[in-house]
Amino acid sequence: MAKTIFEKIVAGEIPARVVHETDAVLAFLDANPLAPGHTLVIPKDAHERLDGLPADLAADLFAVVHALTPKIERAVDADATTIGINNGAAAGQEVPHVHVHIVPRFEGDGGGPIHAISPASPSLSADELDEIADTISTA
Ligand code: 5GP
Repeated sequence: MAKTIFEKIVAGEIPARVVHETDAVLAFLDANPLAPGHTLVIPKDAHERLDGLPADLAADLFAVVHALTPKIERAVDADATTIGINNGAAAGQEVPHVHVHIVPRFEGDGGGPIHAISPASPSLSADELDEIADTISTA
């Protein structure tokens, strides 16, 4: 299968502004930033979606997100960050290689919260919520 753009970055075949690297994880600036300091954190191994990651790699990935977020905020003097994953094409994922977006946020920047992804929140009954919770917890 053809390499994704992120595999090419990991392989050093195309350049990136790398801000952090471990044996398993790479972090670099997004080429089309939503804000100054917008950073992508990826596992070096190619996995399309979060559920494809081995648990130890998922932990490594989040450890880098955890360590890097305050450094990014300080670097660009941000007031906050929005952190998220477009996990699958239906969620807007364009590069099929797991990546965590760390987007610096600023008071009055005009952006919305993660809740803005849903134009209309579904109205769910208590029974429906119970059933969903049951299904998840017993999966
Ligand atoms: P997605 O929509 O898949 O969650 O996000 C993919 C992100 O990768 C986008 O924010 C896009 O700007 C970024 N991106 C795409 N190609 C490149 C590239 O070649 N280099 C870098 N640094 N970022 C890229």
